Amino acid sequence: MRPQILFPLFAPVTALPGIGPRLAKLIEKVAGDKVVSLCWHLPTGLVDRRLCATMAEAPTDRVVTLTVTVDGHVKPHNPRQPYKVRCRDLSGFLHLVFFNAHTDYLTKALPVGEMRVVSGRLERFGSELQITHPDYIVPVDQAESIPPIEAIYPMTAGLTPKLLGKAVREAVARAPDLAEWIDPHYLRRQAWPGWQPALQAAHAPSDEADLTPTTAPRQRLAFDELLANQLALALVRVHQRRLPGRSVKGNGKLAAKVLAALPFKLTGSQEGAIAEIKADMASESRMLRLLQGDVGSGKTVVALLAMLTAVEAGSQAALLAPTEILARQHYATIEPLLAAAGVRGAILTGRDKAAAREAVLSGLASGEIPIAVGTHALVQEDVTFNDLALAVVDEQHRFGVHQRLSLAAKGRAADMLVMTATPIPRTLMMTAYGDLDVSRLIDKPAGRQPIDTRALPLERFDEVIAGLRRAVGAGARAYWVCPLVDESEVVDLAAAEQRYAELAEIFPSKVGLVHGRMKGAARDDVMAEFAAGKLQVLVATTVIEVGVDIPAASVMIIEHAERFGLAQLHQLRGRVGRGSERSSCLLLYQAPLGETAKARLSILRETDDGFRIAEEDLRLRGAGELLGTRQSGLPEFRLADIVLHGELLAAARDDARMIVERDPDLATPRGVALRTLLYLFEQDAAVRTTRAG
Ligand code: ADP
Ligand code: MG
Repeated sequence: MRPQILFPLFAPVTALPGIGPRLAKLIEKVAGDKVVSLCWHLPTGLVDRRLCATMAEAPTDRVVTLTVTVDGHVKPHNPRQPYKVRCRDLSGFLHLVFFNAHTDYLTKALPVGEMRVVSGRLERFGSELQITHPDYIVPVDQAESIPPIEAIYPMTAGLTPKLLGKAVREAVARAPDLAEWIDPHYLRRQAWPGWQPALQAAHAPSDEADLTPTTAPRQRLAFDELLANQLALALVRVHQRRLPGRSVKGNGKLAAKVLAALPFKLTGSQEGAIAEIKADMASESRMLRLLQGDVGSGKTVVALLAMLTAVEAGSQAALLAPTEILARQHYATIEPLLAAAGVRGAILTGRDKAAAREAVLSGLASGEIPIAVGTHALVQEDVTFNDLALAVVDEQHRFGVHQRLSLAAKGRAADMLVMTATPIPRTLMMTAYGDLDVSRLIDKPAGRQPIDTRALPLERFDEVIAGLRRAVGAGARAYWVCPLVDESEVVDLAAAEQRYAELAEIFPSKVGLVHGRMKGAARDDVMAEFAAGKLQVLVATTVIEVGVDIPAASVMIIEHAERFGLAQLHQLRGRVGRGSERSSCLLLYQAPLGETAKARLSILRETDDGFRIAEEDLRLRGAGELLGTRQSGLPEFRLADIVLHGELLAAARDDARMIVERDPDLATPRGVALRTLLYLFEQDAAVRTTRAG
């Protein structure tokens, strides 16, 4: 249970004064829906509103705060002209300018002959000074109510800096004084403030330097976030290790049959990965291993051989895939090989008919079916195994730690293998998985042809169509990926549908469309027609990013490539170049390209080494380009920047390791404080793995 002291922070933002449902929606868009979300919304700029001595000395084209005397109101002759209020001080005069003015309000706020403190952007208009729509107009005795330095936050349309700033201030004011969770020696060495003062300081910059990620308060907050992340992962890990493991040893007989049936030889790194996995399975402790390999590196076969080891030992194995398409694809790959080895397998997805599902469930419960492939349907409560010894999760980053564990929980001390296609850089991997064993598939299967990658501006659309016409005429199959317009699926879909309609006119009855909102069966039908060659152009939203394997496809066209992240582009490109055909990838972009987008596209043209691409991606994203991370499912940090705070991440990892070694149940005073930290960063599930949680 979340500690009481955090309740105010986890109230909805509507709990703040002046925030109703309408503003709450806007705030949710920029920061989140809870009070704490506003605390994590750090300023990116500031406005200096300290009082200027006189108008004559005040700089123009920036925000100034002046003490003025109201001279008179100048009402407009017609409604299109602004309402002006003339003000002066000893050094000169200026006009306050209002469009669509509320006369009543202005008469009250700026009475003639009285002094007021006004704050706003000072501009020179001809020879006159003016401030259009001042941000603040207050009587002199209330000058204090104008913040001398105002923090500026990332905004969205409909919010004003004043409203958002006030909401954040109210949120930060609710941050309680919490018991220190950082190791006192480390805290002293870093000379960091406590959590509450750090939060307050991060929101109260006094100059530009205070906005940089390397200030003490920001470093402290970043460390907190990273520590919560690393500790949560470490706790789940320890929890899993604490459960007794078992030794699973195969005799190699089934594996030998499958190897004999394979039309290819395993690569060196496939062999290596299998050896590592087998050694883990044979040991008494539980395996938690990540099988990391670029698209097309051949992870499925490795998983299959691991699963067969479990079957050889008389147990069962299951493979969990994130989508229906992927589950079916894995099953299609595996099924003939299982047949060659004389092993029964079954697929379980959300779409199975009741009778078929019953048969599979009883086969799994009795152990007659030793191998299961499926979607989340596999982790439902009514699915039981006679003796599940190995759970393989084809991650693609779409499952959380918890879903992974729920499959393993169906077994008796089951080992776990997590497959991931994105060659995530080490640092990022640490944030997603903590410390775990990794097998990497680094060499590509033999016979792969390099992919000819080109970038072309969208204006040359006609050339693209001409090229596509030639390719289709020669029998090629092409993917046409439509851009991510914004976070909204509806808009993405509209773009894809329009492109589909256009292409269908050019290539009658040769074009199909798949998107994330289609029913599974309808999508499978289209994919099957494309795989069979009945359709030659497949228009898709990014649903095909996730591991679709149609070796005959040899053309990949990505529209608005500049809107995709580098890793995503690499994933998409990996959909082609899987067969013997020479493949090409066309990156269509909207000119002019920004610096980052330019760099991304040129890296893609240079290399298809997924690890290098991943490193570059991280570096470029560090430059502020975050598009695509939301899709990746990797943890998103609000306060930490993985690139800039890399050292803090390493420190957080080491600290988390030490904590779980010494105090795995978080029972010491520091442990109790760390629990609060975990709740603060919504790692509730991790707390529950501790004995007292
Ligand atoms: P991924 O790592 O993307 O899941 P897959 O396991 O789907 O890759 O393998 C991609 C394709 O490569 C499949 O068609 C598979 O049969 C083939 N493949 C796997 N290993 C090898 C190998 N050692 N040599 C040649 N082809 C291979
Ligand atoms: Mg695969």
